Amino acid sequence: MAGDSGDPTRIDGAVILVIEDEPHIADLLDLYLRQDGHRPYLADSGERALVLFAERSPALVLLDLGLPGGIDGLEACRRIRATSDVPIIMITARDDEVDRIVGFELGADDYVIKPFSPRELMGRVRAVLRRSARAATTTGPVVEFGGVRIDGERLEVTVDGVVASLAAREFALLWFLVEHVGRALTRRQILDGAWGDGWIGDERTVDVHVRQVRRKLGDDLPLATVRGVGYRLD
Ligand code: CA
Repeated sequence: MAGDSGDPTRIDGAVILVIEDEPHIADLLDLYLRQDGHRPYLADSGERALVLFAERSPALVLLDLGLPGGIDGLEACRRIRATSDVPIIMITARDDEVDRIVGFELGADDYVIKPFSPRELMGRVRAVLRRSARAATTTGPVVEFGGVRIDGERLEVTVDGVVASLAAREFALLWFLVEHVGRALTRRQILDGAWGDGWIGDERTVDVHVRQVRRKLGDDLPLATVRGVGYRLD
């Protein structure tokens, strides 16, 4: 993946969407991110952010919780999460919101509380980008289930020879099931395995991703729901 400046998984030159309505903070973030070699895009509202998100496919989102207008930070996060596993670092002025942000509802990857040190935030940005780059480079052999062919080396899935477009997290979930084929796994095990230890979030996230994987790969994938437990690849 190195060498292609258009690759959003690159740590250097990563496209980063900054959603922040306070101009001096947005400018500061813009400056620090550029100094670190990233390519920031700034949005001062949730509405603008969703447009930019669709246009730019950022590798990371910095999201201020308190935004003016109809789409606040929580809603922007929800809408981004509905279609994407992009890492999100929330910026909040209220430390009593932190549990909601990373605890269960929203699945943000990390957070900082205002006032924050830009240096500390840049450290978090680098850590999150490194984690997601690592998650995207899991290697392994090729596995086939009927017409579904899963290539753990190229991180590619085809259905009857046609490439299925899986999000990085969907592939990670699928690959974790492949590695434990025949075993019933709890949602918690799947979260720990595919999202990484220490990922704190709602176990229903797993259901959402399983739905996507089933929808994209179809009936040839023997992904069973195990009542009262979780899922099993047969
Ligand atoms: Ca704000």
